[in-house]
Amino acid sequence: MIIEYHRPDELVAALDLLARKEPVTVPLGGGTVLNQPSETEVAVVDLQSLGLNLIQSRGRTLDLGAAATLQSLLDAPEVPLGLKAAIRHEATYNIRQAATVAGALVAADGRSPFATAMLALAPELTLQPGDEKVLYGEVLPLRDEKLPGCLITRVAIPLNVQLAYQYVARAPADLPIVCAAVAKWPSGRTRVVLGGYGEAPLLAMDGPNPQGAIIAAQDAYREAGDPWASAEYRSDVAATLTQRCLDEIKEQPAR
Ligand SMILES: Cc1cc2nc3c(=O)[nH]c(=O)nc-3n(C[C@H](O)[C@H](O)[C@H](O)COP(=O)(O)OP(=O)(O)OC[C@H]3O[C@@H](n4cnc5c(N)ncnc54)[C@H](O)[C@@H]3O)c2cc1C
Repeated sequence: MIIEYHRPDELVAALDLLARKEPVTVPLGGGTVLNQPSETEVAVVDLQSLGLNLIQSRGRTLDLGAAATLQSLLDAPEVPLGLKAAIRHEATYNIRQAATVAGALVAADGRSPFATAMLALAPELTLQPGDEKVLYGEVLPLRDEKLPGCLITRVAIPLNVQLAYQYVARAPADLPIVCAAVAKWPSGRTRVVLGGYGEAPLLAMDGPNPQGAIIAAQDAYREAGDPWASAEYRSDVAATLTQRCLDEIKEQPAR
């Protein structure tokens, strides 16, 4: 339950509020998760007046303001095709208008198409205070320890990478039972990330070339059984989706 609402227009004021121990104070992005009914009492710091919603290219990097909405990201021409497919799958048009890049990365569970595709791109987050640069893959398993009191201000993704996203779900608009995202750099570096299961998307491979990607995907989901699907099914489908991603990348124009 939200017990206090603040909308500072200076970053320093936002950080002062987030540093408070009492009441527990957290950033408010689009509020699509924080506005859900909850027993936990929190004060919120609305980010919308801090100018954190810009999307700008800088050389081979695309800088995403942490408060940029998923819809604005979908509308940005520089965004890789695979990321656009994952954003469309993540949420409906109305939720995409509110949900923010950082909010979606922080709140993601293993079934998040957006977090799966983003993790494949090895994004770098900027955390305040301290202007600390960290990889999303390092923060993801430590969100509860690392993020309290912090504000993500910027998320940087590479622009010269091809990205493909594939999934299976009960219905096209449903969250994935298994999804895969494959990113390939001009050097050949290939990252394979799986989603559809557990508390967070899983990095199955980060190698100098695509060799071994299918086996890595199969192995990564070998134990991924739950009431939605058996581990055997997920492991097989992860391999198939990874192959589809690799085939799709071959058809994409170089970036
Ligand atoms: C009905 C519904 C169902 C959903 N189902 C799923 C699901 O099954 N799986 C899934 O992964 N997602 C799910 N989502 C999440 C959805 O995809 C949202 O797009 C996204 O997670 C929320 O973004 P937001 O900006 O609204 O976050 P908010 O609600 O504003 O914040 C979410 C969390 O992120 C933190 N946060 C926000 N901004 C920052 C920042 N700049 N720095 C640090 N921390 C920050 C907040 O403090 C909070 O802890 C669902 C959402 C809805 C509305």
